[in-house]
Amino acid sequence: MKNKFKILLVEDNPFNQKIVKFNLNKNNHEVVTAMSGMEAIEIFKKEKFDFILMDIMMPEMDGLETTVKIRSIEKELQMKKETPIIALTANTLDNDREKCINHGMNEYMTKPFKMDKLVEILEFLEIY
Ligand SMILES: [Mg+2]
Repeated sequence: MKNKFKILLVEDNPFNQKIVKFNLNKNNHEVVTAMSGMEAIEIFKKEKFDFILMDIMMPEMDGLETTVKIRSIEKELQMKKETPIIALTANTLDNDREKCINHGMNEYMTKPFKMDKLVEILEFLEIY
């Protein structure tokens, strides 16, 4: 696996954002953070990322809506390849995974964030 990814982390909770960023930085990955869906979209238009970690529960524009918007921008700009989007969610009980996939996300990851869980998902998605 590639040892340095550039990751867009979209998370409205400053505490969660700090934990995830800390873990990713510790593993040499480069992290750009966004506090909201709107901010994420603005950053996404300007920069390229290996993948996106997207919180689902955010005020105003949630992670699902933000993903739909990102997918439409990719189509609009005729980008060759979709940027993988991995959902971060606290909810394990309902059909969140299906909902995530239906909104254009690639995978689903439950909180709390664990680096080895992320590595498994990246391997599964063949993100190298
Ligand atoms: Mg949140």
